[in-house]
Amino acid sequence: MSMIVTMKKRNEQGQLMIGNINAVTLTEHYGTPLYAYDVSQIRDKARSFKQAFEEAGTEYQVAYASKAFSCIAMVQLAHEEGLSLDVVSGGELYTAQQAGFPMERVHFHGNNKSRQEIHEALIAGIGCFVVDNFHEMEILAEETRNMDVEARILLRVTPGVEAHTHAYISTGGEDSKFGFDLQSGQADAAVEKALDHSGLHLLGVHCHIGSQIFETTGFVQAIATLYQYLGHWHTVYGFIPEVVNTGGGFGIRYTSNDRPLEPGAFVEAVVKAVRNESTNHHMPVPEIWIEPGRALVGEAGTTLYTIGSQKEIEGVRHYISVDGGMTDNIRPALYNAVYDAELANRTEGQEEKTYAIAGKGCESGDMLMYDLPLPEVSPGDILAVYSTGAYGFSMASNYNRLPRPPVVFVENERHQLVVERESYADLVRNDLPLSSNELR
Ligand SMILES: *Cc1c(COP(=O)(O)O)cnc(C)c1O
Repeated sequence: MSMIVTMKKRNEQGQLMIGNINAVTLTEHYGTPLYAYDVSQIRDKARSFKQAFEEAGTEYQVAYASKAFSCIAMVQLAHEEGLSLDVVSGGELYTAQQAGFPMERVHFHGNNKSRQEIHEALIAGIGCFVVDNFHEMEILAEETRNMDVEARILLRVTPGVEAHTHAYISTGGEDSKFGFDLQSGQADAAVEKALDHSGLHLLGVHCHIGSQIFETTGFVQAIATLYQYLGHWHTVYGFIPEVVNTGGGFGIRYTSNDRPLEPGAFVEAVVKAVRNESTNHHMPVPEIWIEPGRALVGEAGTTLYTIGSQKEIEGVRHYISVDGGMTDNIRPALYNAVYDAELANRTEGQEEKTYAIAGKGCESGDMLMYDLPLPEVSPGDILAVYSTGAYGFSMASNYNRLPRPPVVFVENERHQLVVERESYADLVRNDLPLSSNELR
């Protein structure tokens, strides 16, 4: 079921097209670096996930993990597509509120939600807290008592399944900072406590086994483990889950080596496993929630850079530098993430050379790629790095006081700025001048 590796669309001049708009036109309008999203790709992915659930005929929610890429327009797009929304901070919740997202479809994640964040989320009336630990549960119980409200919760548990992925982005194992451990009895105690607190309505369980996953087996295994415990909790506490949330982590194509599954393949496997396990444990089939982040937005995003300086070390490496780097895409520096890139402004050229793509940040590790074949480049060429739609903008920083790039949405041959480029004034907005006589 692997997808065919797609060639990027080019116009007759060989220039890259993004959502039927010439990438060069976008750079002329908005400058570089620039994040450009082909919105129809996001809609297609959202619809594929939902359609698979519809076809399976099960109750479901597809929650967009907004940490992958959060801005008001993106949250509005998620709403338009009938998605639910995962937030992991007061800031992401605020973004959802500003976007007019229905709060009852917001799920709040995170391993250290502050009392303030919990309070704000209760006032907002969000749909569900994914409770990560006892400290959070106590705060939530207190706040619901003080405010005389009820919170719907899922318990995040770690089923001890290692997803087939890079260690740094694997979170489902037992040695994880996230969630209640199943084997040691932590999760049993959590269920008991949750059922005990009158302000907490325990909907069910949640797990997230990793990221950039290319197989369904990890999900099936995790569900089997969840149900061992759900079966036990049914027997001991009479608890019947209304919701089972199997998280996100569905893999995408960063390079031609990646062969992601179709969204439907994951959904089918998850639905089938949950149905089988429910039947085996004599429980009704719960509502199934999933949480794709990168699978919805990753491939839809392209970062456009202008190529500037070069440094060739004969027989060693040929560096070319772009006008962004780790500040707009930290993933290569953070965990050796690999990407694919091409020139956007032309395809023709002499024989290919192999280039190392350097960012402009003052760190030797600010490298986007080490061996990218390209036609011989000149300053002013536009480099398009593909599949940067997830964890690019959302992890961007102002290191070296570089303003963060703007985000443009492209759809139906129209383009629309959805996040403005930061200005120098933005960079110093929160700075206060040194005042010699008012030190406190
Ligand atoms: C990060 C995260 C996701 C989304 O992961 P992707 O790899 O972007 O799909 C979903 N659920 C939870 C709990 C997460 O932490």
